Amino acid sequence: MPEAAKKEVSITFFEKSESKCPICGRTFHRETLRTGGGRLNSDRLSDELRRFYKPTEKFGEIYPLIYYVVVCPHCWFAAFEKDFFEIKNKERPGLTESESDRKAALSLIFPEADFSKERTLKEGIASYYLACSCYKYRNIDLAPTIKQGISCLRAAWLLLDLNKKEPGRNYDLLAKCFYQNAARLYRFAVKQESTGKEAFSTVAGLGPDIDKNYGFDGVLYLAGLLEYRYGSRADMRKRIAILEEQRRSVSRVFGMGKSDKNKPKEILDKARDLYNELGEYISEQSEELNEAEETV
Ligand SMILES: [Zn+2]
Repeated sequence: MPEAAKKEVSITFFEKSESKCPICGRTFHRETLRTGGGRLNSDRLSDELRRFYKPTEKFGEIYPLIYYVVVCPHCWFAAFEKDFFEIKNKERPGLTESESDRKAALSLIFPEADFSKERTLKEGIASYYLACSCYKYRNIDLAPTIKQGISCLRAAWLLLDLNKKEPGRNYDLLAKCFYQNAARLYRFAVKQESTGKEAFSTVAGLGPDIDKNYGFDGVLYLAGLLEYRYGSRADMRKRIAILEEQRRSVSRVFGMGKSDKNKPKEILDKARDLYNELGEYISEQSEELNEAEETV
């Protein structure tokens, strides 16, 4: 196929200029998504604020999410673009020393992952796993907790996509693990923010997806939704107490009557629906618990 025609139908390209990994010092060419020319055909927005895309005849299915984490193909250091190239000295030892750990852990899931070639869904999922593992060593001013949460959530989404393509390989169970981790990390991030330990309300790229930044409202809403769907049910009294707290947080999104005309309608509607659903769930569960206690 002639070069020009190849470019016409290609989804990504490898940048001509080299990038240098700040951890191992080796160079690589980054793969970048081409977004124009009708490649991305927006579809619905999910309850989890994920944007779906309709496949097109010319380009087929595209998963734009899989290109957003920069990964060094040599040492597998990974981060969102803004956080990749500037490393503080105190972040360096952890990131260098954990290279074999992150490689060993990822090899258990995707032994064939290769970041020097065109990415597939598997490298996309792997990139978020690696980002989550590397943000553990990053400075608090980069808001690592919420970035780990976003990485886990996106990994869960992509795992569900992979499960549809390759059913029966337990990718759905793995997605559940990532969702559970995302629930824990979102909840912890909100706590960190509210106690002033890790401010992130002004961080760009809170997404949770790449099409729109729902900012801190999106984080409050998702913290509630993820806890409701994937939070622990081991101790129902505790669960109810956590969900009551989450419900109050979710109400902050729509401000209980305060002016909210600058906020996107979709997040206001979804937050109100979740607030009501949580209310019903909490009273049903509390009633059941009280009845069970009375009959003991
Ligand atoms: Zn490297």
